[in-house]
Amino acid sequence: MTMRPKRVLLFATKLGYQTRSFQAAADRLGVELAYVTDRCSHLDDPWNDRALPVHFELPEGAAGAVLDAQRGLPVDGVLAVGDRPTVTASYVARALGLTYNHPGSVEACRSKLRMREVLREAAVPVPWYRAVPLHSLPEPSLLGIQYPCVLKPVSLSASQGVVRANNREEFVAGATRLKRLLDSPEILATREHNRDQMIVEGYIEGKEVAVEALLTGGELRILAIFDKPDPLVGPYFEETIYVTPSRLSGEEQQAIEVSLLSSVRALGLTHGPVHAEFRLNQNGVWPIEVAPRPIGGLCAQALRFGPQAGDSMALEELLLRHTLGLPGSDAEREELASGVMMIPVPRSGVFAGVDGQEEARATEHVTSVEITARVHDYIAAWPEGSSYLGFLFAQAADSAEVEHALRTAHRKLRFHLTPRLPVEHPVTHAVPPGDHAN
Ligand code: ADP
Repeated sequence: MTMRPKRVLLFATKLGYQTRSFQAAADRLGVELAYVTDRCSHLDDPWNDRALPVHFELPEGAAGAVLDAQRGLPVDGVLAVGDRPTVTASYVARALGLTYNHPGSVEACRSKLRMREVLREAAVPVPWYRAVPLHSLPEPSLLGIQYPCVLKPVSLSASQGVVRANNREEFVAGATRLKRLLDSPEILATREHNRDQMIVEGYIEGKEVAVEALLTGGELRILAIFDKPDPLVGPYFEETIYVTPSRLSGEEQQAIEVSLLSSVRALGLTHGPVHAEFRLNQNGVWPIEVAPRPIGGLCAQALRFGPQAGDSMALEELLLRHTLGLPGSDAEREELASGVMMIPVPRSGVFAGVDGQEEARATEHVTSVEITARVHDYIAAWPEGSSYLGFLFAQAADSAEVEHALRTAHRKLRFHLTPRLPVEHPVTHAVPPGDHAN
């Protein structure tokens, strides 16, 4: 009897480096991948990869379209990359009887407001928060706003639109800026809901970490805790360096695991990858966000699993094995310390090129330098931005060496960004936002 190849549905806002990495892993495993995306719904198969076009902002309708298209075809697993496709993936999995998170849990993670409500209800520490309308901004003092606070869009990713305010003036300026971003053609194009309000919450002091984890029937396994050694104090929160293993104490790391477990239980997440951010201070561990998806984009390259460097596997392969119930998804992260720098955007401008790539690549412990900005692209700095100039990767015996290598390599790069002449739109992105989540 010949076994048919296993078949996985991969939900993604765009087909890019992360989906390519999934494809490479699928090829290695002899697994068939079918893509579901909302990149373009006017053309049948414009990229010739037979991706099924749907609208992720209408998850039940999108799920119906997927089920229609898949009728008669075997589906053995589902995975979603980026935040926006996760809800559709959960409806499809439920309809097909595949083990995955319940749509209600995934929906709670798609709204920063709903997530705060659910966590507060479950007595997981959350800062004070308010939903504030953006169309006619109320007087902040009447809302009980205290400073410092953080203004955030309800459903965007990659810290896009997230602004710290230390006083009333900064609050009003931040809200105006956020409203302009949410009304920009690029955000409108995503047909995102929740554009008429923001969430405002108390600023949480402390160190920040990112956690990559895997849930299996409700059991949580931490794959990696990444330190973020650059202070993230605002006013904007563009990410830079992630390094693992964490240099936090064993006790602190345990407290993070306990907090993540309470958070996923409160939200009802049960199966599949989880990416989460936490802040730690003298009052404990504070979840900033919990998302039922893997770390975004190229950053996943910082994680490899399995015994030796030569034969280790990518996160994408581990996740494919996990969704299919194949052996190997219990592999531990490799022994070397590993890190990535999301190359910050110093100011908005048209990308005209970069010098020093060879020197950066030659830096000791640097394993790869990937410039993802394309010449002539307009690259927006944060808070409007959501795409980095590129990514640097390093590996070494310990995390301090990795961090040093990333900083040294970054200093060798000289980016040329030329100001753009004023045009009709205040904000534009060369790359559509929504799948740059870290
Ligand atoms: P996104 O999903 O767009 O990444 P987050 O809610 O994770 O949005 O916020 C992005 C970043 O902003 C966080 O990683 C953190 O550095 C900062 N941030 C968000 N909320 C707070 C808060 N309440 N206190 C301090 N920093 C915050």
